[in-house]
Amino acid sequence: MKSLTPFEIRTQHRSQMLDITERVRAIVAGSGVKDGGVVVFVPHTTAGITINENADPDVVHDFLKQLDAMVPWEQPFYRHGEGNSAAHVKASMMGSSVTVLIDEGKLMLGKWQGVWFCEFDGPRTREVWVRVTPC
Ligand code: ZN
Repeated sequence: MKSLTPFEIRTQHRSQMLDITERVRAIVAGSGVKDGGVVVFVPHTTAGITINENADPDVVHDFLKQLDAMVPWEQPFYRHGEGNSAAHVKASMMGSSVTVLIDEGKLMLGKWQGVWFCEFDGPRTREVWVRVTPC
């Protein structure tokens, strides 16, 4: 079994959430692991990852709008020369990894949960690293 499975993701907007649940589910299925866990890690400082509702698309809309309201792109006190301080802050608010349990080969997400890649300084090509671990 390959221990680390990376995949690329292409974002289209500065701020965007992409549902990567099915990609993670496919990697888990391909791993052959029946019981264990999967860690999904984002190796970027201006993108993050979270688990939240993937049934109503308005949740993602509201989520991104609220993050923009809390962390505006422009602030008079920002010093970071690259000009993307808001993206750095939002990335840390979301975090860099999520862990999901695997039981009898199934990804153990709640009924309304999905795994979301969170872009905050797109559009870019991004990487996601996935490790499936048996227990
Ligand atoms: Zn920066």
